[in-house]
Amino acid sequence: MRPLGARGLSLMAATIAAVAVGVPAAAATPDELAPLAPTLEEASWLATLESLRHPPRPPVVFPVRGRVDFGERDARFGASRGGHVHEGQDVFAPAGTPLVAIRDGRIVETGDDGGRGNYVAIWNREVRRTFVYLHMLHPSRVRVGESVRRGQRVGSVGCTGSCWGDHLHLEVRRGKGTTARPLDPLPLLRRLAARRARPE
Ligand SMILES: [Zn+2]
Repeated sequence: MRPLGARGLSLMAATIAAVAVGVPAAAATPDELAPLAPTLEEASWLATLESLRHPPRPPVVFPVRGRVDFGERDARFGASRGGHVHEGQDVFAPAGTPLVAIRDGRIVETGDDGGRGNYVAIWNREVRRTFVYLHMLHPSRVRVGESVRRGQRVGSVGCTGSCWGDHLHLEVRRGKGTTARPLDPLPLLRRLAARRARPE
């Protein structure tokens, strides 16, 4: 219930007095109704209530919609892979587990070449990162140039290309494209996984 202003209180007192002596209360004048307009303080309180009802969506979401396992040392970013270095983090989950866009972005590359299997690369201009998903079960249905929203389905966990078990190989690259400098995705993944585990 909204607090009554001074004018509201005196109007209420007058109404109570009028009812008490058995005379009809006078109709409120526009001036007496003015306190009904929300004050700044009330407006911000209402905005807070509204944001509790519809919390803003986090800008980053976990890329796998299911239980995952980050594997052992050789699944890590930087692990030696016979002649080259592992440029992503492997995230193990059963084949078919939905993969979703970590952030809003634009599809800058898709393909089904040998080593990567079916893959998709999502570029986010705000944070200047490219998120690359490898070894997907099927070729992605999102096309180059298409915009995707965080949480939007971009594929499924699979094991296409150079792969030894169903998993998402996720790369986070600083800059645009699949050859920009790779970063370790694990700190971000752990943070997102922890947030996902907390009850809402
Ligand atoms: Zn990998």
